[in-house]
Amino acid sequence: MITRKILLTEDEMPRQWYNILADIKMNPPLGPDGKPIGPDSLSKVFPMNLIEQEVSQERWIDIPEPVLDILRIWRPSPLVRATFLEKALNTPAKIYFKNESVSPPGSHKPNTAVAQAYYNKEFGIEKITTETGAGQWGSALSFACSHFGLECKVYMVRISFDQKPYRKSMMATWGGNCVASPSTETKAGRDILEKDPDTPGSLGIAISEAIEAAVSDESGKTRYSLGSVLNHVMLHQTIVGLEAKKQLEKVGDYPDVIIGCAGGGSNFAGIAFPFVHDKINGKEIDIYPVEPVGCPTLTKAPFVYDHGDIARYTPLLPMHSLGHAFVPPPIHAGGLRYHGMAPTVSQLVTEGIIEPRAVNQIDAYRAGIILARSEGIIPAPETNHALACVIEEALKAKEEGKEKVILFNWSGHGLLDLVAYDKYLANEMQNIELDESEIEESEKVFADFPKPEIIKNR
Ligand SMILES: *Cc1c(COP(=O)(O)O)cnc(C)c1O
Repeated sequence: MITRKILLTEDEMPRQWYNILADIKMNPPLGPDGKPIGPDSLSKVFPMNLIEQEVSQERWIDIPEPVLDILRIWRPSPLVRATFLEKALNTPAKIYFKNESVSPPGSHKPNTAVAQAYYNKEFGIEKITTETGAGQWGSALSFACSHFGLECKVYMVRISFDQKPYRKSMMATWGGNCVASPSTETKAGRDILEKDPDTPGSLGIAISEAIEAAVSDESGKTRYSLGSVLNHVMLHQTIVGLEAKKQLEKVGDYPDVIIGCAGGGSNFAGIAFPFVHDKINGKEIDIYPVEPVGCPTLTKAPFVYDHGDIARYTPLLPMHSLGHAFVPPPIHAGGLRYHGMAPTVSQLVTEGIIEPRAVNQIDAYRAGIILARSEGIIPAPETNHALACVIEEALKAKEEGKEKVILFNWSGHGLLDLVAYDKYLANEMQNIELDESEIEESEKVFADFPKPEIIKNR
């Protein structure tokens, strides 16, 4: 009998996060003067303890006990051997997934939300502001803030605010306060509304609003929190890959292929970075971040310095970017609608250590249906992008007659995204592709910015 769920006891949970900055050199973030920024320049945006973590070069960083306590509500998460999918595809590949849909908010996001809420509380902060796309991050942070008695204010991308009412209910249930972005509460929001009153909104706009709301609070007790992209967020997510490594050891396997969907890069980084460490040290693994064709940051956009938000409040980050003013088309995978990408993930792509793939919306949902009907869990729209790639790789293994070990991150469930499934099942879903001229136009915004150096770590 094949063991389906490979479980760790709570004692076996990793006690440290893995920091990839110990193993790769990166271009520094730059300030408005084009010079590398010092930690102090971010002190109104983030608490200093998280800023220190953002720039730390320590390979292993202890997970504080109070964070572990809350993570234990659902962690360690199961590593599942997808036997029913293997059978449905008739593949010799062994397919494993980390099931991050088992957290209370239903995705991987509370792995960092809990840690960030803890560090803010430790620093004496009373209120956290943030943005959210489809609402997963806003609900994860609301959940985390409720544990530490912090106020949580969420700017939610308008198209999702209108299409996904239940995540608002989750935020409210955990005590969070959510408004549609762009809103009239901030200057950034009002400026956009004046130019384009019917905008569907974007993560870039919502980030501007949340940062402005944090830094303009004169009490000094409010900070901003980002659910992806930054180094410390990738760090917190590595618990996923570190658990997976231990779990695979228990059954004597090691991955040949690792797959995760990539919006800002965090769930991908979480499962992949502990193995990227091995790859840098000589292991052979194919590692694929998967993004939507409708927002092709890694596959189509150049590696540049750009801002993380439309109002240019963030420092210049070295990353693949479609341009900070780019408003992605309204694809259903709200969590994958971001113009930029984690600098760490971007750096690995420029070096060819990981290889980005892009999947269109209909193929993603087709894969989601195959998984729902085999493994049972209805996947998040974002996860569906990873699944399309998993299926492709499993069928390739079949063609080649190879018993490959495929590991992927099941980043969340889709129980609050069923409207999109209805559309797919009624044949009403459309693929969204950008034309090259649209991308060229949106990329003009960073033409005059400094260019990152090409750094080789391998
Ligand atoms: C937010 C989200 C994503 C995308 O964000 P990353 O930072 O790239 O992980 C993917 N899947 C789910 C379920 C999400 O909620």
